[in-house]
Amino acid sequence: MSFKKSPGTQDILPGSVEKWQFVEQKAREICSRYNFREIRTPIFESTELFQRGVGETTDIVEKEMYTFIDRGERSLTLRPEGTAGVVRSFVENKLFGEPDLTKLYYMGPMFRYERPQAGRYRQFHQFGIEAIGAADPALDAEVIALGYTFYTEVGLRGVGVEINSVGTPAVRGAFREKLLTYLEPKREILCKDCQSRIDRNPLRVLDCKVDQKHFTDAPSILDSLDEECQIHFDKVKQHLSDMEIPFEINHRLVRGLDYYTHTAFEFKAEGIGAIDTVGGGGRYNGLVADVGGPDQPGVGFGLGLERTVLLLEHQETAIPNLNELDVYLIALGEEADRQVTKLVYQLRKAGVKAERDYQGRKMKAQMKSADRLQARYTAILGDDELANGEITLKEMATGLQRKVSFSDLSHVIMESKLRS
Ligand code: ATP
Ligand code: MG
Repeated sequence: MSFKKSPGTQDILPGSVEKWQFVEQKAREICSRYNFREIRTPIFESTELFQRGVGETTDIVEKEMYTFIDRGERSLTLRPEGTAGVVRSFVENKLFGEPDLTKLYYMGPMFRYERPQAGRYRQFHQFGIEAIGAADPALDAEVIALGYTFYTEVGLRGVGVEINSVGTPAVRGAFREKLLTYLEPKREILCKDCQSRIDRNPLRVLDCKVDQKHFTDAPSILDSLDEECQIHFDKVKQHLSDMEIPFEINHRLVRGLDYYTHTAFEFKAEGIGAIDTVGGGGRYNGLVADVGGPDQPGVGFGLGLERTVLLLEHQETAIPNLNELDVYLIALGEEADRQVTKLVYQLRKAGVKAERDYQGRKMKAQMKSADRLQARYTAILGDDELANGEITLKEMATGLQRKVSFSDLSHVIMESKLRS
C-alpha cells in the first residue's frame, strides 16, 4: 500500500522551503516596520461566517469551500480566505474597544476546491493584513504600500498595482442599472456562471475570467461615483503618487469578494501561465457590522505565497543562503569520536551551525559531505590533536589550516562568521 498527496496539495521540501522561510521572514519584518501585529485565527470556522463575510454569490462560496458536518452536527468550513476570520475575531474579542487603530497580519494555509494548475492549488498559503477602525484614504495607501514593499523587497521585478473604486452600496445600486442595460443583450454569449449572476449580482460578472473579452467597452463604475467616493478615490491616488508607488486604474477590477467598498486593488505580475494576479485587497467598510460588530471601516489585502515563490523561481531571484553550515567535524578514531560528540554539542550551544558524521564513513566520504553541506570549515580531530586538546580547523574556500584549542573553537568560528 502506498499513499500519494491529495490533488491540489503540495509538499514543501528542504531546498524550496528556504524560499518560503525567506518570504515569510520578509513579510513579518515589513509588517513590524509598518506596526502591524500578528493574529492567528482557527483554520476552520462556522460555514455561515464565510457565507456572510465572503458573499453568497462569490466563486468561493458557490463552489470552492471545503465544508463538512462535525460530530456535533455543526456545519464547519476550512477557511478559504483570511479576512472573515480576522474580522470575526476582532468582533468577538472586542478589539474595537481599544483606543488605537487595529493593525493585524496573518500568514497560513487557505483551502479552496479549485481545478489544480500552476499557481492554483486546493491548499495554498496567504499572507494578509487588515487595518480596522479608520476610513482615512491614507490607510488604503499604506496597505497598498506595504504590499508593494513586500514584493519589492523579496526581489520580484515587474509587480504592478491596479486600483479601482467600487464605491458604496448606493453607488453600486445606481451603476447596476447601467450595467444591466449593457449586459442584457450579451446574455446569450456569456458563460453559465455569468448568465446566472447577471440577475443576482451583475457587478460580479465583470470579474469573470472567461468573459473578459466581451467587456472591453463596459460602462465604468468610476463614472457613477458620488462625491464622497470620488474624493476618497482621488486621495488614495494622491497618496500613492506622493509615495511614488506606480499604479494603473482599471475600472473593471471588482475583485472576487462581495465585501469591498471604495478602494479595490490588485498586484499584477507577469510570469506564471495564465495567472497574472499575485495578490489583492480593498476597503470593506460594511464587513465588521455584517458579521455582528459595530460599524467600523477596514482595509486589507491577501497575497498568495505560492505565486510569490513561483515567481521568485521563474525570475531566478537570488535569495540569501540560510543553509550554509559553519563547520563539519570529522573524528578519526574512537576516542576522538567521543570528543567530537561533546564538541558538536558545545558548538551548537554557542550558536555555531555544526554537523558531524553518524554513519561510520571514511574520511574522504565525510569531506564530500562537508562540501555538499557547503561547510565553511571542516574540523578534523585525530589522536595527536586529541592529546593536545586541539583540533585542525580548515577553511574550505582557501584551504588554509591551523590548530585551534577546543576551548577557542566556537569563538574562532563565530568571529569569522561575524566578519563575513
Ligand atoms: P484568482 O482570480 O486567481 O482565482 P482570487 O481573486 O480568487 O484569485 P483572492 O481571493 O483575491 O484570489 O486571493 C488573493 C490571492 O491569493 C490571489 O491573488 C492569489 O495569489 C492567491 N490565491 C487565491 N486562490 C489561490 C489558489 N487556489 N491557489 C494559490 N493561490 C491562490
Ligand atoms: Mg479564485
